[in-house]
Formats: sequence, structure tokens, C-alpha cells
Amino acid sequence: MEGAAPGAPRREALAAQPLPEPQSRTGRVPPAGQAPQDRRMRQCGARRRNALTPHRPSVQLPLQTDPALPGRSEPGDCDTDVLIVGGGVCGTALLFELARYTDLGSLTLVERYGRLAQVNSKASSNSQTIHCGDIETNYTLEKALSVQRTAAMIGRYADLLEPLVRDRCVFRTPKLVLAVGEAECRLLRERFSLFSPHFPAMELLEAEQIAAWEPRVALIAGELRPEPILAIGIRHSPTAVDYEALTASFVEEARREMSSGRRRLDLRLSTLVRRIEPEGELFRVELEPSTGPGSLPGGAGPGGEASTGEPPPTVLRARHVVVAAGAHSLLLAQRLGFGLEYSCLPVAGSFYFTPDLLNGKVYTVQNDRLPFAAIHGDPDVRAPGQTRFGPTALLLPLLERYRPSSFWDFLKVLRLDRAVLAVLWQLFGVADIRNYILRNLLFELPWLGRRLFLADARKIVPSLQLSDLRPARGYGGIRPQLIDRRSRRLLLGEIRIEALPGLSFNVTPSPGGTCCLGNALRDLETIVARLGCRFDRERLERELLPPPSGGVPAVSEPMAA
Ligand SMILES: Cc1cc2nc3c(=O)[nH]c(=O)nc-3n(C[C@H](O)[C@H](O)[C@H](O)COP(=O)(O)OP(=O)(O)OC[C@H]3O[C@@H](n4cnc5c(N)ncnc54)[C@H](O)[C@@H]3O)c2cc1C
Repeated sequence: MEGAAPGAPRREALAAQPLPEPQSRTGRVPPAGQAPQDRRMRQCGARRRNALTPHRPSVQLPLQTDPALPGRSEPGDCDTDVLIVGGGVCGTALLFELARYTDLGSLTLVERYGRLAQVNSKASSNSQTIHCGDIETNYTLEKALSVQRTAAMIGRYADLLEPLVRDRCVFRTPKLVLAVGEAECRLLRERFSLFSPHFPAMELLEAEQIAAWEPRVALIAGELRPEPILAIGIRHSPTAVDYEALTASFVEEARREMSSGRRRLDLRLSTLVRRIEPEGELFRVELEPSTGPGSLPGGAGPGGEASTGEPPPTVLRARHVVVAAGAHSLLLAQRLGFGLEYSCLPVAGSFYFTPDLLNGKVYTVQNDRLPFAAIHGDPDVRAPGQTRFGPTALLLPLLERYRPSSFWDFLKVLRLDRAVLAVLWQLFGVADIRNYILRNLLFELPWLGRRLFLADARKIVPSLQLSDLRPARGYGGIRPQLIDRRSRRLLLGEIRIEALPGLSFNVTPSPGGTCCLGNALRDLETIVARLGCRFDRERLERELLPPPSGGVPAVSEPMAA
């Protein structure tokens, strides 16, 4: 990643900068003296602050006491302006954007585990890819262009970070998508002529050029492999992300922003959100202590924060709630009677490790009839010297991989009925999908699985040997794919359930990591419109959004160490 320009002005704390006037729900500035919401909605915080004293591992920044502070919360009925449920990459991306680009006085993030990003955003759960539409042959041009803009936000964000932190989060490697056989090569050539005007870094690679980029893809014993091959390659761009490290950096930056303006960030780890209910114009959120990865008995947080020893609060009241809890978002929504039209079909992905075989990411041409991405090979950003192949696509009756008790939650969100059965029937009715599902099931079998997987992985590295393949135990999360029971369709993208004004639930299967900052911006805009806080849109656009094509990139101010 290129560093910030030497001598570039250091970032000033957002709270110290003049922010635009609050916007009304329609985005217009309300007349002077008129609050965008009624007075009760503007009040939040002080009266209940004692109740916020952490018991579970918690990080609290200074309470806000100065009435002149931006976005100040006054004594009232609520504890926090915005409560985010879920400490994965999506919830924390929203936390970061709210902290840096608005003047909200009080933000709370609640995470059931004692450490952030222990479910799908964990480095070992996903493929660590920024999907920007250039090598994903299952994306139409339209989809690729929209994903490209959102995906670019991660690289832009990374450029704001100090080099040491940035280099732990985002990685630049070569990447390519490989066509094998006449039909795939033809398809890839057509794709190149359609896409390359929009993706100028794309290069069309013939077999010899592939051999120069990725010798093990093109060569067997020093000779070109026998079948025709072609690739689209991108030499050098932000390609891989450690979404777990990215999550940590979002929280770190949010803490910095909130501390500078004496605003308040309440990070509650090892705390489970049990239930959310509207209460007047606020939301009543029931919490309970939780156990799991990183939870420490006695209330000391992962950073060693001391417990106050006070009993844990069980209820918080928030002006706005965003649930970014993966598949559990649907569970929480349905408990409240929303999102009942959806059912969840969890699709796990497993991986295999090999020795260091590839220089960059190698994807393959997607079979259009298959709903999930074909396997690919990726250098693992946390396991130097190893290449990770996968993921497989295994239907698994769990909402969380490696947590068997999530079977009961799965049963609740499956909501098995004729509509769900009809979708499953449709899926199994297509021979390609049926064979694919069965093959992926067989991948899990101890002896046979490795041999079957070898045959697939040889499409990428034809000389791969069985002895090279080692199952990546403990790796791979679960994609919470939703079924729309009304239209009887399997949905492949993310879902946002807008339950009530001020309460939404996000379910984010792949490529949810790539879209975290884009989805957060969408939530932020809803929050700004409803709560009437200040929003430095110009700064967000300058820092995070790519310039219109052909434009000169704006110079961003790096974030302070
Ligand atoms: C095999 C696989 C490969 C993938 N590859 C990619 C890829 O290459 N690129 C990409 O962009 N995306 C990829 N994804 C998708 C990506 O990992 C997810 O979209 C992303 O991590 C979702 O982030 P999240 O914050 O929404 O969810 P999560 O990371 O799952 O976080 C949700 C959090 O909510 C917490 N939570 C749940 N319930 C509660 C509750 N009741 N109270 C409090 N906290 C709660 C959980 O503990 C968890 O920490 C992949 C996914 C899988 C499974």
C-alpha cells in the first residue's frame, strides 16, 4: 500500500472541526430553532449513566458533561444514541463511521463474545478477499461496477491508517481468474472486452504469461499444461483483507475519535442481546452476560480493563438500533415479529492448506448454474508460506460453525414449511446443483473428501499431489443464505430488514466483508436523517469514496497513531 504523502497535514479530531448543520429526515436543514425530532428523541444519556457502569468486559470512554460539546446528550430516558449489535466487521465499520463523521455523543456496541470478530469476520472464517468485480465471473457488469465502488472504500480507509496497522489489515498481491478449456477461454475473452474499459488494470494473459505470473498454474514439470488456458489478471491492487484485524482497527479509530471530543463509546464484550423492543420512540434492549471465545470470568476485558464489580445492567435504552449479528440478526428480528418472510439456509465453507504454491489469488470461471463461488487458491494472510484452497459449500444445520448449540437457533430461523421445501426441491431439481451439493457433502468425509477435493483443486494447480493437501481444521465460517418464502427463491446477497424507524437488522453473507463500509454508510445516512445529528458528508466522501472514474484522487489526511 502506498503511504500517505510525506508532510501531509495530520488529522484533526472530528469533534474539533466545524460540522455541517443537522439534517432533517428529508436531508434539508431544519429552520433555526426547530429540532429535527421531538425533544425526547434528542435526549440521551446522563440520567442512566450509572446504569452503564461496566461489569462485563467493557471499554468506556469519558462521560460527556460539557453542554457545549457537539452532539451532546442531555439527561433523559435513553442510555445511548445508537446501539449496534454485533462486533464483526460490519457492526464495527458502522461504529467507525458514526464516530468519525457524525457528532453523536454516545455510541454503544454489544458483542456476545469476549473478543471482536470471532464469527464470520475472523481471519480463518472467510477467504480474505476484497471482491471488487474484476475476477468474479458470476457478477454482471452492472453488479461489478456497484461492488467496485464499495470495495474501493476498504483501500481508501486503509490509506488513512498508520503503515504498521494498515499492513496488518489490507494486502496487495497479484490476482487472476483462470479459464480452462475452449468454452471458458472464449467466455473470458468476451468478458475482457466488456469489462476492461471499466477496469483499466485488467490484463489478458495467454498461457505463457500465466506461467510468468503463476508458474504452478500454467506448467507441469516445466511444460505448459495440455489444455487451453487463459486468464484475466490484475497485477497490483488491494486484494486481500484480514477482516479480523480490520475490525480491530475500526474500533481503535472509533475510540480515538470519541475520546477526542469527550464523547462516549461503550464497548460491551461478552454480552448477549437477548431481545429488542420498541418503547415509545426509543428501543429497550435486554442484555445478559455471555460466554464464548475470549470471555474472561471476573469481568476483565481482553485489553485488561478492570471490572468494577458492580452487577451487570440488564436493560439499555437506545434512540436507534442497528443489528449486524450475521445469521442471528434474523433470529432477533423474528423474535420481534419482523422478517418472518425469510428462512435461513446456512452454507458452511471448509478449506484445505497446501505449501506455498501461488503468488497471488487464483479464482476460476464460475459455473452460472451454481449458486456459490467455485473454489479458489489464496495465499493466507495469517499463515505465511501456505496457500489456502476452498471454500467448499456444505449445507449445515448450524447458525455458527463449531458451535453445536446454534442448532437450536437454526431450527428457529429455518421455519420449515411448504415454501422452504419448494425452494429446496427446486435446488435439488437442477442436476448441476444436486451433484454439487452432494459432492460438497463428500468433501467432508475423512478419506474420500481429500481425494475428491484434489481433483477440483487440480484445475488451479494441475501438478498438485494428495500429500500437499491438509484439511484446514477450525477454518471456515457459515454463509447465512436467506430464502424468500414469498417468492420461493434462494437469495444470494445481503438482506436489510427495516423493521421500524430506528431499528434495522442486517444479514450479510459473502461478500459482506467487502461491503462493510458501504453498508455502514447506508445505515449512517438513515441514522443521520432520523436523529438529526451533524454529518460531515464532504469529509467522508473525500476520505472513503473513490473519485469518479478519471478523476484525480483526493488527498486524505492519515489517521493519527
Ligand atoms: C467460507 C466463507 C468465505 C467468505 N469469504 C469472503 C470473502 O472472501 N470476502 C468477503 O467480503 N466476504 C467473505 N465472506 C463473508 C464475510 O465473512 C461476512 O459477510 C462478514 O464477515 C459478515 O460480517 P458481520 O459483521 O455481518 O458478521 P459476523 O462477523 O458474523 O459478526 C456478527 C457478530 O454478532 C455477534 N452476535 C450474534 N448474535 C449476537 C447477540 N444476540 N448479541 C450480541 N452479539 C451477537 C457475533 O458474536 C458476531 O461477532 C465469507 C464467508 C464465509 C463463510
